[in-house]
Amino acid sequence: MKYNSPRIKVLNKQNILKLIHDNHPISRAEISEITDLTPSSVTRLTKELINDGYIREKGSIGKNSPGRRRTLLDLNENAFVSLVFDLGVNVTTFGLGYFNGRVVLGGSFETPKQHKDFFAKAKDIYTKLKKEHKITRISFSIPGMVNMTENRILLAPNLHWQDISINNLLDVDVPILADNEANLSMMAEKYHSKDLKKIKEAVFIVIREGVGTGILLDGKIYRGPSFTAGEAGHMTVDIRSHEKCHCSNEGCWERVASINWAVENYQEKLEGRNAIERFASLKKKKDNRKIFEEFARNIAVGIINIVNVMNPQLIILGGEVQDLGEYFFNSIETEVKKRALRDATKKLKIRPTVFETVSSNLVGAAVLAIEDIIEKVR
Ligand SMILES: [Zn+2]
Repeated sequence: MKYNSPRIKVLNKQNILKLIHDNHPISRAEISEITDLTPSSVTRLTKELINDGYIREKGSIGKNSPGRRRTLLDLNENAFVSLVFDLGVNVTTFGLGYFNGRVVLGGSFETPKQHKDFFAKAKDIYTKLKKEHKITRISFSIPGMVNMTENRILLAPNLHWQDISINNLLDVDVPILADNEANLSMMAEKYHSKDLKKIKEAVFIVIREGVGTGILLDGKIYRGPSFTAGEAGHMTVDIRSHEKCHCSNEGCWERVASINWAVENYQEKLEGRNAIERFASLKKKKDNRKIFEEFARNIAVGIINIVNVMNPQLIILGGEVQDLGEYFFNSIETEVKKRALRDATKKLKIRPTVFETVSSNLVGAAVLAIEDIIEKVR
């Protein structure tokens, strides 16, 4: 292959844009140092990226030393806007994702039981918002398995949705993207969290009406050849259990580690229209310590298996449990360190997700759109 081939040029352009994404604002000289590209190549390629609208010049550094003044490059935040949906089993939230990773919440609605109604609602929202915003992608976080090449929901067990082609249901004039919610949460953390700049093996566990895991392996999301990797919620943790799971197996981890378990096993009936609201009521109860300690142990059982299999350096918990406080996370960590292989836990950290106001799923859907935009740079 010739080194000045168009393919190499495109890859260099994409790499520069990725670099600016991770380190903005950044000078051309720094880009040249990090990428080993000549200063003239960097000047030429960044000029193209500016003309295409991806980046812009933003101020400079070294003002007091003439001759060493360097113009900084930053992302053009508004150039690419994605409409992002966090499809929840009971409640769906949506928002706008900008090219620098920022997500602005748009609203929420009760998730329709029928998939056709859901995508009709999504189309209405898109039609309305595209009048005011330059939307270039629609990106979905799905509580289930997704074939990403075909945009097909293989199975969303808690919604009872199976084998659904999003492309057939949503007729729009922009590209559609979709992925499993835990994979997207892992992507969101990798994009925004400092500790993940160096860690290459990590697992994000989404605990909501179901339990999903997003696996980061060698710095990349591992989805498996059939897009079912990370369905740790359906690993069997009780071989004697006859409790049926939505996946049709019995004794799944999800049966004891989802928020449904906590609300169903609390001594009183909790207020709320759905599991999310009832779980929120449970968080406010003064006598919830005992149930949350038991819940922490149930969650720990699955983490022990994951740690023994995968030896990750970081486990992140999100969904509905991230605000449960130190004692909850300490209970999980104590149990995991007591029961998992000693050497597997040596470098292990367990922490809540960094995302509080906007869900990690929604932020991840925006990151998926950004990655797609960068991949399409020519
Ligand atoms: Zn299951």
